[in-house]
Order: sequence, then C-alpha cells, then structure tokens
Amino acid sequence: MSDCIFCKIVAAEIKADIVFENERLLAFHDVRPRAPVHVLIIPKRHIATLDDLSGDDCLLAGELVLAAQKVARHTDIAEKGFRTVINCRADAGQEVFHLHLHVMGGRHLHWPPG
Ligand code: AMP
Repeated sequence: MSDCIFCKIVAAEIKADIVFENERLLAFHDVRPRAPVHVLIIPKRHIATLDDLSGDDCLLAGELVLAAQKVARHTDIAEKGFRTVINCRADAGQEVFHLHLHVMGGRHLHWPPG
C-alpha cells in the first residue's frame, strides 16, 4: 500500500535498523523502543491487522512466531525471557495498520499491561 509506513520500509523508501529478513518477513528495531530490546517483525505483504489473516496464511503466521524466537536469540534475550505482542485495531492501541509482532525484552516486563 502506497501510504503505509511499513510498506515503505519494505520498499527501502524509509530507513530502518534491520535485524533480519527473508522473502516473506522483515524484522527491524522499533523507532520508539519501550524496552531495551524492541523489535518489530512484519510480513512483507501488506496485511492490515491480525484479523485480516486468512486460513491461507497459516504458514506465514507460523513463520512470524518462529521469527520471534530467532529475533530473541539473536538479540540475546531468549534465555532471560521476552514478550511478544500483536495489537489489533483501536482498543488494543494499534497505530500502524500493517500487521506486526512486537518482540520486547532486556528488562523485567510488568504484567498485565494497561
Ligand atoms: P502498534 O501500536 O502495535 O501499531 O505499534 C506500532 C509501532 O511501530 C510503535 O511501537 C512505533 O514506535 C513503531 N514505529 C512507527 N514508525 C516506525 C518506523 N518508521 N520505524 C520503526 N518503528 C516504527
């Protein structure tokens, strides 16, 4: 989508601090980190929200979760623990309408979030 900020990162029109990428996914550091490690993993294909995934996206959804494991290991937070979050739409505070999974860690994370 032409006006989507994360699509622009995928297209390299906007810079991001990339952690890893493959054909389908891209992971990059959140520009406004809420924890010492805060990485976003996105599908390269524009999907607005978690609720827009379909049954055909099973593999992609699984890959997204496994990518969180990869990011956590790569950023050295896997052993102590980390949190993954997908905000879906307004009540969850979703700001960017391109599906993304937050991976956060590097300090004790309070639960439940507000
Ligand atoms: P959410 O509230 O779940 O939609 O989260 C969107 C996240 O995207 C926020 O944590 C923002 O800080 C982050 N964000 C927005 N623009 C950028 C950008 N250009 N590069 C990296 N992260 C971004």
